[in-house]
Amino acid sequence: MAKETPMMEQYKKIKAEYRDAFLFFRLGDFYELFFEDAKRAAEELEITLTSRGKGEDGVPMCGVPYHSSETYIAQLVDKGFKVAICEQTEDPQQAKGVVKREVVQLVTPGTVMQGRAVQEKENNYMVSVDTFDDDTYSLAACDLTTGECKTTMVAEDLEAVIQEIASFSPREIVVSSEVDEELIEWCERRLQLTVSVQDETELPAEMSYVLSDIEQTKLRQVTARLIAYFVRTQKRSLDHIQKAQYYTTKQFMSIDPDSKRNLELTETIRGKSKRGSLLGLLDKTVTAMGGRALKQWVERPLMDEEALSFRLNVVEALLDDFFVRQSLQEDLKHVYDVERLTGKVAFGSVNAREFVQLRQTLAKVPPIFEQLNSHHSPAIRKLVEGIDMCQSLRHRLDESILDDPPVSITEGNLLKDGYHEQLDQYRDAMRNGKAWIASLEQQEREATGIKSLKVGFNKVFGYYIEVTKANLNQLPEGRYERKQTLTNAERYITPELKEKEQLIFEAEEKSGQLEYELFLQLREEVKQYMKSLQQLAQTLATIDVLQSFAKLSDENRYVRPQFSQNRDVKITAGRHPVVEQSIDIGSYVANDVFMNEKRDMLLITGPNMAGKSTYMRQLALISVMAQIGCFVPADEAHLPKFDQIFTRIGAADDVAHGQSTFMVEMVETNRAVSKATEQSLILLDEIGRGTSTYDGMALAQAIVEHIHHDVGAKTLFSTHYHELTTLETELARLKNVHVSATEEDGKVVFLHRVIEGAADRSYGVYVAELADLPKNVIERAKTILSTLESQTQDADQSGQVKELIASHEPKEETEQLPLFQIEEEPQSSNVKEEPECAFEQIEPDVDEQDVLATIKNCDVLNMTPLQAIETLNQMKQKLGHK
Ligand code: ADP
Ligand code: MG
Repeated sequence: MAKETPMMEQYKKIKAEYRDAFLFFRLGDFYELFFEDAKRAAEELEITLTSRGKGEDGVPMCGVPYHSSETYIAQLVDKGFKVAICEQTEDPQQAKGVVKREVVQLVTPGTVMQGRAVQEKENNYMVSVDTFDDDTYSLAACDLTTGECKTTMVAEDLEAVIQEIASFSPREIVVSSEVDEELIEWCERRLQLTVSVQDETELPAEMSYVLSDIEQTKLRQVTARLIAYFVRTQKRSLDHIQKAQYYTTKQFMSIDPDSKRNLELTETIRGKSKRGSLLGLLDKTVTAMGGRALKQWVERPLMDEEALSFRLNVVEALLDDFFVRQSLQEDLKHVYDVERLTGKVAFGSVNAREFVQLRQTLAKVPPIFEQLNSHHSPAIRKLVEGIDMCQSLRHRLDESILDDPPVSITEGNLLKDGYHEQLDQYRDAMRNGKAWIASLEQQEREATGIKSLKVGFNKVFGYYIEVTKANLNQLPEGRYERKQTLTNAERYITPELKEKEQLIFEAEEKSGQLEYELFLQLREEVKQYMKSLQQLAQTLATIDVLQSFAKLSDENRYVRPQFSQNRDVKITAGRHPVVEQSIDIGSYVANDVFMNEKRDMLLITGPNMAGKSTYMRQLALISVMAQIGCFVPADEAHLPKFDQIFTRIGAADDVAHGQSTFMVEMVETNRAVSKATEQSLILLDEIGRGTSTYDGMALAQAIVEHIHHDVGAKTLFSTHYHELTTLETELARLKNVHVSATEEDGKVVFLHRVIEGAADRSYGVYVAELADLPKNVIERAKTILSTLESQTQDADQSGQVKELIASHEPKEETEQLPLFQIEEEPQSSNVKEEPECAFEQIEPDVDEQDVLATIKNCDVLNMTPLQAIETLNQMKQKLGHK
């Protein structure tokens, strides 16, 4: 093999330091990739793989043009890769030997500052976690685009840390090489994070301020690790990173990632789209900053009553003041992303066009602030209290930056006339020179009499005088010097033209250079406003979110939630905020939720499709909305402040989740029952469906009992096991409710109304009928059903079920809980199949028996009139078949 060229040696040396990244190696106007990098990049970016050198010594290579590299880098980072950008750090013309090259930035999923990976209305957090032997964890999170930095301790278990990590939706995590391996596995597998290692936690002096408010060693260490990683990879000023703020997870309502997913808080389960989620509904923000703040709020509902009443007070005041709300919305539409612009200032990537955006934004601030400052509501006034409007910066940008500058900052046309004397002089020279040249054409036409004579300019030859071949004979000999011959024309210059050209070029170059320098100075100067700008950005974001809440609450007739001091829930005419929007206006059936210390748990029965799941989610969503400071869809709402919400969906309903196995369902249920407190809300939707009937029913009952006895959380439990409704008599704080349906002309009609008591039957067959299953199947099913029902009724009449329950009543809390047994106990205790039904036993007078049984069993004193009518109607239907 031939000897390595010096450049290849250089490449390999640099690549050795960035093994886990694509090395973009600058070669003239291209970034080149070699070897494995080239092969993979060619595949990922769909670009052509070539080779440097021939034959056996050929090295796989591919490249992207320097000027369009950003999109390629963004594509790779988007896919979770890292890209090391290696530049030529000396002028190639002056270099002796190989041009010096250095990596100037490592772009990673967590540090990307622009491009598609950075969503307007989403943060791009990077997190760092340290694990300790005493099973505690410290965590830091920082968004490099906005500078926000936070840190906390998690003292529970690995799962709690994962939940905390996930709450930031990061794309990358930084850890030490000694971190707990299980954590890495979770991060890679479950959260699909890019994992980066950073062992050094010493911070350069200029970054140490980030830690100034943090005392605890573990927190300092993890935050320092994160910042040190930024410093190492970004290799530039990071002054916009804010002081790390300590927070505790107790400040917020905690919702584990699965529950967030189930409740569709920020995205839908199926399409993973924001549209159709709670966030999608709530988002009437008009700024990117507001959009990000809203998402953060939804991810972290508050526990602090004072903070909540502040938000609610503002919403209430804005709700009542249509005029102010309207003009806020208008003004905010002209507000750019100050927060990210500030990040770019520090990062040194801000351009003049973005300064114009900043200036336009700052011009909108006084009208916004004045309105709020003079408002009669103290809460609204407080929003802007003590916030610097940064108007001196606005004036500075006003006098300096042109209205429509180019994106590039090296080619001039950035600064206004009168901003800088020397610059004005250069520009004068340029303008004079150009004016002279402009007048030259006219002058020479007259002098030579050639009407078509032109003065032009091209990049290679500069200014020239052009005469067409046809007119050459009119040109006095020796008037111009020949420069270039074209097919139909000759181009000339004159010494004077050359001289002026020289002047213009010089002035252009100098003014471009000077403008660049002045712009950099200005950029430096703007840095001193960074803290004020960040504060202003946060204020504007908050205003935007709260106006969004007010607008939404007004449009949808939401009411202000009241937080109850005891744990009572009292919702009158509550609605599911998202479902309500997806059906015809006014067709949503509002429902009450009433829970207190005597009604901690509601067992919800009712036919499929009746609205059980909707009813349960409705309570959770109303609670989340209340705890982020928004009004809620109800006529009246009194709520506790829930510390946690857990939701479990029965495996059969959980189709969208890849791992819809019964095991996962049980693991998740276990999490809910072991972590919930009296202050929590648990939603268990059809738990136990993923296994055989008796198994499932037994588990469901055991879980209900456990929550009732040992957890005490407010719980909604929906089930299709009617048998469970008898639990009401055993468990003091459990009440039956059901979602009603009636039959009309033998068809089921869902009323979506939740009423007290247990449902009488499950209507599954009718749902099948709605779904247009063949008639004979439906008929046969009805016959079988009534047989089975009559058997159950018989068993019930004889008191068999109750007795069985009694006889299985656990003697101690820990004892295995009972199965409902209607038929004989199966041979194996590990039942996996439904018991066989005895089709042959169909009796001729089954319906009459059924009706009799119903009459005997119904508890007239405890029936609502509607239930009575329903029951009567059903009995009539049955007999009507005869
Ligand atoms: P279940 O869980 O009982 O099977 P769902 O809660 O999934 O039923 O509700 C089924 C459908 O019924 C929902 O998709 C919704 O369109 C409709 N629905 C549910 N509750 C209501 C309601 N209160 N008002 C109007 N429509 C409702
Ligand atoms: Mg359901």
